[in-house]
This record gives sequence, C-alpha cells and structure tokens, in this order.
Amino acid sequence: MKVPFLDLQLQHQPLRAEVLAALAETYDATRFCLGKDVEDFEKGFSTTFGHTRTLGMNSGTSPLHIASICGGFGPGDEIITTPFTFASSCWGISYVGAKPVFVDIDADTWCISPEAIAQAITPKTKGIVVVHIFGQPARMDEIMALAKQHKLFVVEDCAQAVGATYRGAPVGAMGDCGTFSFYPTKNLGACGEGGALVSKHTAVMEQAYLLRVHGSPKRYTHTEVGFNFRMDGFQGAILNIKLKHIAKWTERRRAIAAKYRAGIKRADVQLPVVPSYGESVWHQFTLLHPRRDELRVHLEKCGVGTEIIYPGPMHRQPCYAELGYAVGSLPVAEKASATCLSLPIFPELTDEQVDHVIQSINAF
Ligand SMILES: *Cc1c(COP(=O)(O)O)cnc(C)c1O
Repeated sequence: MKVPFLDLQLQHQPLRAEVLAALAETYDATRFCLGKDVEDFEKGFSTTFGHTRTLGMNSGTSPLHIASICGGFGPGDEIITTPFTFASSCWGISYVGAKPVFVDIDADTWCISPEAIAQAITPKTKGIVVVHIFGQPARMDEIMALAKQHKLFVVEDCAQAVGATYRGAPVGAMGDCGTFSFYPTKNLGACGEGGALVSKHTAVMEQAYLLRVHGSPKRYTHTEVGFNFRMDGFQGAILNIKLKHIAKWTERRRAIAAKYRAGIKRADVQLPVVPSYGESVWHQFTLLHPRRDELRVHLEKCGVGTEIIYPGPMHRQPCYAELGYAVGSLPVAEKASATCLSLPIFPELTDEQVDHVIQSINAF
C-alpha cells in the first residue's frame, strides 16, 4: 500500500469546479489585488477563528516582517525565539536589524520553553517570537506573564496552527500580533502564496494596514516607508471556499493523530505529547526515534512517505553562524532535529492508510 507524505491533488480535485467558477468571477470583475474577495476572506477568517480583525497578505513571511516593525524592533534589540522552526520565523527579526536570541524548547511539545525565555531576558530584550510548532500551542500564560513583567512585544507565528487554541483562546489573539501562512501545504492553503496578520491592538492593525500597501494612507501620500504585501484577489477567492472546509479538515487531522497515538506501540518512539491546556491542529505528526534515518528507510520500503522537519535547528544555520551558537548549546532542539520524523497526516488519508503506517512502524 502506498501512503504519500502529502497529496495536494486529493484536496483540490473535489473543489475544482467551485474554485474555477470563483476564479472566473474574480477574473471578469478584474479584482486582482486585494478587493472584495480578500475583504470577504478577512471577515470570514476573523469570525471563523475569533479574531477582531484580519489583514490578508502575500505570504506568511510578510506579516512577520510587519510584526517586527509594529513591535518597534530594531538594531541593538534582542528578540527571543525558538530554533526549532521554519527559517521564516526568524526572518522578521533579522529584516529590521534586530538580533535573534535562540533559546531551547520544551522536550515534550517542542515549542519554545518559557523557563528558557526567562533565563535569556536582558535589558536589551524587546520581544519574543513564539511559534506554535506543528500546530501545537505554546505555553502562552507563562510567556505572556514574562512579557508583561518585562514589557516585551509578543509575536505569535501561527503559520502551522490555524484553528489551534490555548485554554480556549485562538492562537494569534493572545500575543500582540499573530501571523499566518496560506502556503499550499499549510492546513489552510491557497493555490499560490498567501498569509495574514491579526492583532488585538487597533494601533497595530492601523500601522500594519498602511505598511501592507506602500505606507500610504492616501494615494500618493506616504507617511512611512511601506511594502507591497497585498494578497491577490484570486487567492482570496480560493481561500473563501476553503474556509468552509477547514473545521472538517482539522477534525480529520485530529482523528488521524488520535489513531497514531493509540496505535504506535514502541518503547523507543517518543510520540508528541498532547497537553491539557490546548488543542493542536496537527499540521505535522512528528515522532522522535534514536534510529530515525533507519526507520525512515524502512517506512519508504513499506510505501510510506515521511519527511524530516526540521533537520537543522536555526541556531546552527550558516546564516546565523556569527551569533556563535556551538554544537550542544541548545540540546533539546538539537536532539529533536537529530531524531524527528514526520508521518503523513493530511485529511484525505484513509483509515486503511493510517493503519498501514502504524503497522509498518510497529514492525520496524
Ligand atoms: C510556512 C511558515 C512560515 C512562512 O510562510 P510563507 O507563507 O512560506 O512565507 C513561517 N513560519 C512557519 C513556522 C512556517 O511553517
């Protein structure tokens, strides 16, 4: 039996007619950049997930850049973040000339450790970029308490966590700014690039609104050096259709994760922990195994596709070599990178495929 790591066609084929009809409408109306489709999506996203307001953008990296500006981050500032993430989580910090300060992660959920954050705070610390990695919410109460105590601006990178909650609150709404990505492989994926920014602060939303389109409150008046981070009308139209399915897709991801957790029975596998404080949306189902590479080859032979996400933690990437983090400096993140293996978990997987993955792992 073949179990691909991810098959995007299975989600897109059933939506084909509806999506193409929506695209035709947007095309005929020439609503190419922002416009009604994007505005509808912004409203729908806010009501679906519980945000005050949403700004659609052209990627998940752009709102991270804007969040750094809204947080007032700049040269000389230290921004604490996690090394166990996709590179883009750190780019917003670097784009504005601030310094990423990497701290270790919790050994069970692989999200940034609040205890490690507390130890890294200095008089130069200006903010924290939290990542809800693999769809699992980070420990926001502890993080927000530190932020309040030290007056830090908190950015939540929710690129992998659309729909996840922490003690009932939607991710992205607890910090000062939340960012999302609609890259096609994300839980809510556009057919191309897309992203969004949310914030509970009116001032942040107003500044982000201006920065998104050339820092321009009025045509040809530029109050700030801005960007072109507009979302395409086509992507808005597609995301409006997909938004109707996200609850069902998330439910299916949760059911698959529950099956994996109940079925994989090996003493040498560390399964992802489901903490009582939050609900993951299972962007990835990732386990740790000391012989990860051999397990991966074995699964390949069984027809099961897997990925190593992420093989190299950010503090050891060549682009951050000058920060001087030695091997072993963040041992929990390094162990996760050295032993992690992500299993197939897209909503269209059949129960038979999930059972095949489980049996293949148990037979290793
Ligand atoms: C995908 C991703 C991003 C960036 O999103 P893009 O849309 O590719 O720019 C940022 N952070 C994390 C954790 C991601 O997984």
